[in-house]
Amino acid sequence: MTAQIINGNELSQQIRAEVKSRAAALTEKGSQPGLAVILVGDNPASQVYVRNKVKACEDCGFYSILEKYDADLSEEALLSHIDRLNQDPKIHGILVQLPLPAHINANKVIEAIAAEKDVDGFHISNAGALMTGQPLFRPCTPYGVMKMLESIQYPVRGANAVVVGASNIVGKPQAMLLLQAGATVTICNSKTRDLGAHTRNADILVVATGKRNLVTADMVKPGAVVIDVGMNRDDEGKLCGDVDYAAIKEVAGYITPVPGGVGPMTITMLLVNTIEAAERN
Ligand code: NAP
Repeated sequence: MTAQIINGNELSQQIRAEVKSRAAALTEKGSQPGLAVILVGDNPASQVYVRNKVKACEDCGFYSILEKYDADLSEEALLSHIDRLNQDPKIHGILVQLPLPAHINANKVIEAIAAEKDVDGFHISNAGALMTGQPLFRPCTPYGVMKMLESIQYPVRGANAVVVGASNIVGKPQAMLLLQAGATVTICNSKTRDLGAHTRNADILVVATGKRNLVTADMVKPGAVVIDVGMNRDDEGKLCGDVDYAAIKEVAGYITPVPGGVGPMTITMLLVNTIEAAERN
């Protein structure tokens, strides 16, 4: 079997076209959707991510601002910038690019963002709302994964879903969204004994660990949907995911590539969350 590829670039284009027309409708009513992105420090990967996010906003007709600060910005100063953006009526979404420098408490910063502008969905009240099945914002990466499953009309209800990775920004919210869609969910972490025994049981396997080639073909159930969230570099410096793509695509029913899979969907769902925030406003 050769797996069908779930193309995140193509799906993103479809969703972004819809976002663009919703943005135009709001702008016509005098309420252009606005996103503020804050970058502290000069992490090269973060610089690329924020550039891509701001460009995606501009392409969709959003108002967007990028605020860049030196790595020695104090926590107090960052909190006051967030406070200013919380009160800015032109801004509907605020995103602080992570990771932050070590002297800044990331939790405190996320909690300072007004929950109704927390388009990343990381604020504790948004995490709680997701947990109780009433999400205001779904975190962008897991939301994008759900859209990918929807795009292949996969029957999530009743399926065995295994999420490898349990971070607050990907693994845990992913598990919640799959559970709410009716899957039976297993969450694995670095302490899991015999990872393969779990993954081989997965109809839907989402891998988000940051460990290259963690999942190999013998760990995948034939015909499964394999969603690779990981973003790593191989020995030649090329972008790659957490699963052995070449071998697994001969076993799986569906697979997402890296690059061109979950990555573009994450930015797309940030646009969706921002337009939802603007429409609510
Ligand atoms: P993270 O905060 O480092 O969390 C990694 C998770 O993987 C942890 O729960 C960890 O377990 C688990 N883990 C590590 N080694 C494992 C192993 N051998 N077996 C099973 N579980 C293991 O990472 P993250 O922020 O969730 O990101 C994960 C990956 O996704 C990274 O490569 C990141 O770059 C990528 N990412 C991509 C996108 C995108 O748009 N494509 C978005 C976000 C993240 P413990 O809890 O036990 O430590």
